[in-house]
Order: sequence, then structure tokens, then C-alpha cells
Amino acid sequence: MQQQVGAVIELYRELESYPVNIGEKTVHAKRMPGYFRSLRTATQLGLWLPLLLLPYLRWNGKQAIMFDIDHSQFHCFNLTVRPDEIWMLMLLWLGASVLMFAVTNIASRVWCGYFCFQSTWVDLFTWIEGKVEGNPAARRKLDDAPWHADKIIKKVAKHAIWLGVSLLTAISFSVWFVDAFEYWNKLLHLQLPRAGWVTLALVITGTYLYAGLMREQMCLWMCPYARFQSVMADGQTLMPSYDIKRGEPRSKLRKGDQAPAQQGDCIDCYQCVQVCPTGVDIRHGHQLGCITCGLCIDACDSVMDKIGKPHGLIRYATPDEIEGKPHGKRRQNPWLWVYAALLLASGSGVVYGLTHMSVLTLNVRPERQPLFVRMSDGSIQNRYEFKLMNKSPKDMQITVTAEGGIKGQLIVGSAKPIFVAHERGTAFTVFVKAPGENIAKAATPIRFHVQSLDNPPISADYNTLFNGPSL
Ligand code: SF4
Ligand code: SF4
Repeated sequence: MQQQVGAVIELYRELESYPVNIGEKTVHAKRMPGYFRSLRTATQLGLWLPLLLLPYLRWNGKQAIMFDIDHSQFHCFNLTVRPDEIWMLMLLWLGASVLMFAVTNIASRVWCGYFCFQSTWVDLFTWIEGKVEGNPAARRKLDDAPWHADKIIKKVAKHAIWLGVSLLTAISFSVWFVDAFEYWNKLLHLQLPRAGWVTLALVITGTYLYAGLMREQMCLWMCPYARFQSVMADGQTLMPSYDIKRGEPRSKLRKGDQAPAQQGDCIDCYQCVQVCPTGVDIRHGHQLGCITCGLCIDACDSVMDKIGKPHGLIRYATPDEIEGKPHGKRRQNPWLWVYAALLLASGSGVVYGLTHMSVLTLNVRPERQPLFVRMSDGSIQNRYEFKLMNKSPKDMQITVTAEGGIKGQLIVGSAKPIFVAHERGTAFTVFVKAPGENIAKAATPIRFHVQSLDNPPISADYNTLFNGPSL
């Protein structure tokens, strides 16, 4: 076993100088059918189609899901999250980040290969390129050819379609923040506000530039995730790997040739490199450019079928497995426990927030100047500024009562209900008067209670102080 591991390490050392794709040549990856190609298409469609279409879903006559920038609110069906509850979205964001760390430790850049916006749009853009310009060989030939009518027509058509897709992408992004149908109406009548036009222009430019022109160079050099994913992976991380012991020594195999006895299973056909969207040769070991899409596995398996060898020369495997280390106890990385605890904490926080969200949010500010007023009858009066947010879609009438405070206290004008408009904050002033002789201390806790008259279970409380003279 020791000898085997030593031999594998030696082979890696021999192969360790490998070409790095720095974008000097456009990668024209071959598209091949296969299990991972289908899986990739399914996961990409499964994530992005709903995200593109969800803004058009209506709920109670309004957009079901919207980050309402104008009113600083997030709507999700009946749920409305306001700035004071934005901590829930932040917890959700924290949970998603931690989930990504955990998934990276278990399965490397699986996000990049199967879900990421950049790799999905590059896949779409290169598919369009293939439809307009032909297969990878034809595309390379067209790139190298001098400018002529056919080349100009094909290039103009490709870039026009790319710009059309970029425009649709920019619209799909924008309608998450404003009413989708109103947006289309304004766009078609060229009446978008300036911020709308700027957003549209920025997203079109970004999409066209990143997915059409920069492509895999974004994944290789600009994506921060690509940088830190390498420190999260360890010997037990699952990733597409070339079985170097089985594949080497490689040599070409011509049709009808018998493979020499010492030859490995790799016939150096380059199919795995030709299908790679980032131009990686996985036979040099796992590299920064690998987005874990598994397309090289499909390619190699199809080659193995043709030469009558078993699948899996390239397969999802851990570095430990490839190096022949004993499997033993797996997944002992203590960071996984940290990730699990953080996930649990953020998930519980969000669940708590959602289950304890109130329709009414009350904020009470006692008057500071003066703290209290002594009335002509000897009573002490405090003034409070109320701010009540009614998050429900209905207007309501509310009453204000108080608990605690001073014996004999009363709320001036409390018999009259107060109107609070739907989905708005309403400000009003409340006076509390208490007999002077009942005041025992300078500050007495008081609890205000507001309650809907139309729907009594809807209520909110606020604890503050009733101020009186120092004794
Ligand atoms: S090396 Fe294989 S898994 Fe990695 S990006 Fe290329 S095709 Fe995808
Ligand atoms: S596809 Fe398989 S056989 Fe062909 S070069 Fe790649 S690893 Fe070798």
C-alpha cells in the first residue's frame, strides 16, 4: 500500500506542470450527451426558470414575491418583512453561506457546476454560439478566418442574440424590485425612471460581458468563491477525479490496435479536455478551474464504452480514495459540526422570527422636554409619541390601554378609537394623567397595549416609563 501511494504521488509530481487557461484562446467546448450533462441541465433549469418566472406570480391582486425598494419592504405571499425585521433575511443569507461552505467541504464546487448564474448563462451563451457558428472545430476555424460576409453575418447574429438574452436577463432581474407588469408597461412606453434605465444598462452589460465574452475567465480569476473553495476542500471532499493509477501510463490507441500489456486505460483521446467548459485537463489532478460539472466523466465513460473498459476512469471520488488511502472513518472534519451548529442557529432564528411576527409593530417615545407636566388639579401628565406600523393589507381601528404605571391613571381621550391605515406607519400622541399623591417614585414602569377593534387577537405591547417628580 505504501508503495502504491508513493507511486501515485510520483506520477502527480511528473504531471504537475500543466497549462493554465489564461484566456488567450477562446474555449470552444464540445457538447456531449450523458448523465451529468442531463443532470446539469435539470438543476440549472430547476433553479433559474422559477427565479425568472416567479415575479409574474400574483397573490391577492399583487405581486406575490417582491423586494419593494420604494417602500423598503420584502413581500412573500401574505408575509411582509420590513426594515426592522430585515435581520431574518440576514439570518437566511448567513444560513445560505454556511450551507455553501458545508457543501463545498463535502462536494467541492458543486454549486458552480450545477447552479451558478455565471456557469448557467455561459452554458446558454455557448449553446447559442454553437447553433449560429457550428461545432467547436467550425467555431475555431471561423475565429481564425479573415473577415468575410459569412463570418460577419454569423458574428453579428450571435452577438445580437446574446444582447437579446442579456436584455431579458436584465428585465427578469429588475422585476424582482418593482411590480413586474407595471415595469413591462413602462418599459414598452419608454417611461422607466432613470434608476430603472441605469439598472437595465448595467445588467445587460454585465451579462453580455461575463457570460458572452469573459466566460470561464470569470470562474478562474474573478470569482471569490473559486479562491476560497480550495481551503475548504480536504482529502475527503468528493470531486471529479482522474484515476491516475488506472489510467497511466497512457498512450494513443488506434482502431484495431491491441493495447500493450503495460498500458493504462487512458488512450489520450482528449475527449475529457474537449468537453470541459473551463478548458481544464483533469488528468493533471484537481485544479482551480474545475467547476465540478462532471462533463468530463460523461466524455470518458463514453470512450470507455467504445474500448470495452469499465466506466469510472474519471469519476467523482475523494483525493484520499484516488491516492489509495484507507477509507476508514470518513467525514471527521470538525468544521462540519461548526457549520451544522450555525445552520441550526440561523434556521431556528428565521423560524422564530416568522412565527413571532406581529401584524402591528409599536414604538413609543416618552416626551423628554418636559418629562412631565403638573396640572392645575395636582395630577401629573406624561406625553408619549406613538408610532404604530400596520403590516396587514387592511385598515383598522385600534384602542390604546395601559397596564402598570400609577394607581388611578387614565389615558386622555382613550375612548375614541384611532384609525391606522394598511401597510403604513401611523404616528399619534397619547397623554397619560395620574393623581400626584399616588406617585411613589420618579420613574414607574408602564406597559402600553394597542388592540385592533375589528380583529382583537391583533395587538402589540410596549414597555416604557411614567415620569413624575423626584421625592
Ligand atoms: S474538469 Fe471536468 S468537472 Fe472540471 S470543469 Fe472540466 S469538465 Fe467539468
Ligand atoms: S477521455 Fe478518458 S481516455 Fe480520453 S483522454 Fe480523457 S481520461 Fe483519457
